[in-house]
Amino acid sequence: MKPIPYGRQHITEEDLAAVVNALKSDFLTQGPAIPEFEAAFAAYIGCKFAVAVNNGTAALHLAALAIGVNENSHVITTPVTFAASANCVRYCGGKVSFVDIDSETALMDIDKLEALLKASPRGTYSGIIPVDFAGYPINAEQFRALADEYGLWIIEDACHAPGAFFIDKNGEKQISGNGRFSEMAIYSFHPVKHIACGEGGMITTNDEELYKKLQLLRTHGITKDPSIMEENDGGWYYEMVDLGYNYRLTDFQAALGSSQLKRADNGLAARKAIAKKYDAAFAGTTIRPLQPHPQDGHAYHLYVIRVDDRKGLYDHLRRKDIFAQVHYIPVHTLPYYQSLGFKQGDFPVAEKYYSQCLSLPMYPTLTHEEQEFVINEVKSFGK
Ligand SMILES: *Cc1c(COP(=O)(O)O)cnc(C)c1O
Repeated sequence: MKPIPYGRQHITEEDLAAVVNALKSDFLTQGPAIPEFEAAFAAYIGCKFAVAVNNGTAALHLAALAIGVNENSHVITTPVTFAASANCVRYCGGKVSFVDIDSETALMDIDKLEALLKASPRGTYSGIIPVDFAGYPINAEQFRALADEYGLWIIEDACHAPGAFFIDKNGEKQISGNGRFSEMAIYSFHPVKHIACGEGGMITTNDEELYKKLQLLRTHGITKDPSIMEENDGGWYYEMVDLGYNYRLTDFQAALGSSQLKRADNGLAARKAIAKKYDAAFAGTTIRPLQPHPQDGHAYHLYVIRVDDRKGLYDHLRRKDIFAQVHYIPVHTLPYYQSLGFKQGDFPVAEKYYSQCLSLPMYPTLTHEEQEFVINEVKSFGK
């Protein structure tokens, strides 16, 4: 059997044709494929605006800039996430705090968040960056209520969760990142994520002002829009009105993204079917899947189990060419964050989770035979 990774992209003939088409067009960097991808993605998520950028980290950085993070900002995120969820605050000079996770979902624990906010003087914090970890969506309605009470903004890191949804208190389906509860949500199109562009990212929002700001910051803060410019010397004229970056996605990557997006629902269905098989296989064993009460809206970027001898299982699977992975080393324990004053022991639930977690192979093209092989190896090690 071929080596089995924990995640991988799926590129079809149709994807290849879309990329070749874009490469043969007049545009390599931002061209017509960008607004097409943005419009299709906004429609998929059910929000008004989407801004494509060159990766998920850039999406976080621009979202933080657009919402006004600066040296005076203090932002709360979760320790169980990719470092970029916290780093974006540091890029803007802001201060990061963490709130420990719920042990059964590994999402930021909203009760602990509330306790922290209650115990802090009003105005201490500016915003929250919650993460839809593994594809399990936060209840953004509950986060919104708390954010409103304390005057905070929300940037939802939905990199694991395109197409995820939760059921609101009226029983209605709310797609994560649809802009009704969070000011912005961000996505990544790294090959292990649901939609692959090679590198790529997206920011979704319903706020037109943020939308315009994001577009400006994506291209150096430079505009040719006469309604923003102070003067207009001629056809060549542009103004740089803010300090922006070059965070553009290329047109051929956007073409790949659009092509992939067309199959997103199939991919989600395949991920859910794989999760269901794992759930059934591990029921009644010592292998404890994370998020044991899955909502229908789980997008299953990852399928995480918790075991006592995690390193033993990881090494055993590697010997069988099964490349399980650990998500994540808690951000506050990374040397950079330790240098800011965080230490082991600060967030014990996250640290305990880290000592036990392992992400099993989860991607739409994982075959039945491959999954059976993984399940058998996991279970036989457990014995
Ligand atoms: C992948 C990921 C990112 C960063 O995305 P890139 O496209 O790799 O820059 C940020 N946050 C989370 C939770 C991610 O999984």
